[in-house]
Amino acid sequence: MSLRANLEVVQCNIARAAASVNRDPQEIALIAVTKTVPVSTIQAAQQLGINTLGENRVQELLSKIDHVNGVNWHFIGHLQSNKVKYIVDRVNLIHSLDRLSLAKELQKRANQKGIQVEVLVEVNVAGEETKFGLDCQEVEDFCRELTAYNRIAVKGLMTVAPYVDNPEEVREVFRRLRELRDYLGRISVKAGWSNITMRELSMGMSNDYQVAIQEGATMIRIGTALFGERSQ
Ligand SMILES: *Cc1c(COP(=O)(O)O)cnc(C)c1O
Repeated sequence: MSLRANLEVVQCNIARAAASVNRDPQEIALIAVTKTVPVSTIQAAQQLGINTLGENRVQELLSKIDHVNGVNWHFIGHLQSNKVKYIVDRVNLIHSLDRLSLAKELQKRANQKGIQVEVLVEVNVAGEETKFGLDCQEVEDFCRELTAYNRIAVKGLMTVAPYVDNPEEVREVFRRLRELRDYLGRISVKAGWSNITMRELSMGMSNDYQVAIQEGATMIRIGTALFGERSQ
């Protein structure tokens, strides 16, 4: 199918999933995941109105970023501390803050540039060995520590759900992330964590975004459903 047709299917599914739980589809941001996708295709996506792109590798992001103007770039993959300096002032949101050493480096580099860096805290809700992210029980203490980093603005939480054939199997994962966000949002207000606003929920990929939307996703990260299967 063409990119245009794929986009229409995704937009239709977003609208339908949102309607099924009385949500406004406008409050769900579509992040087009462009890893392995060539610049020419990304430009075609931009022509179709896609305005937020996600990359999970620093090198690949940097190789594309100057060729696509007027879009928002999100960094969605595991971020090594020694690469922070290359992207800290080039992306609009980092979805994958998962450790204090990374927070320290983000603070340092953002401070040098005199900017705020917006992030999500990555949570490994299902506790998978192979995945990055904090355990649910660690997130509250982690956020409390982040209040010392005034260059970091936490906007919410992100998770990558286990890959399953039937997305209903991961509904509970999305629900738990939403409950954690709501809980931390209350704590943040009560404790006056001024750099932490728990609004966003980055959850849902090609395989499971409808369920994620029903459970409250505010950002979905979609690669395959837009651009087709990746060869790698
Ligand atoms: C690749 C990737 C996606 C998109 O996956 P699809 O299944 O192709 O939609 C989303 N989030 C992260 C973190 C990714 O690395």
